[in-house]
Amino acid sequence: MFTGATARLTVQNCGETPLQLAVEPWADEHRLPPGQTCVVVTHAPRADGSWCGTTRKNEPFHVEHRQDSIVVWAHGYCFHLSDLAGGEIYAADRECPAQSSAP
Ligand SMILES: [Zn+2]
Repeated sequence: MFTGATARLTVQNCGETPLQLAVEPWADEHRLPPGQTCVVVTHAPRADGSWCGTTRKNEPFHVEHRQDSIVVWAHGYCFHLSDLAGGEIYAADRECPAQSSAP
């Protein structure tokens, strides 16, 4: 059973043009059409508020707004991108602590 931390960030494009969504530090880019919502999930091995991508406690994400794009820094060991229904779009989960105990 996974005893670490899970953080979810819901990103919604409320604009009228496609939004470029980049997830760092993986430099992974996705296009979010108008009206669409996606969820960025990241995991950390410990649930004590420490995240490996930042020195500040309880800070699983950092978001940068740039012209026509949004950059999400996920401070955990991995990230998983899915739609609102949970359907996976993409995952960078090679170092995912939540999956290390899975067979
Ligand atoms: Zn993960």
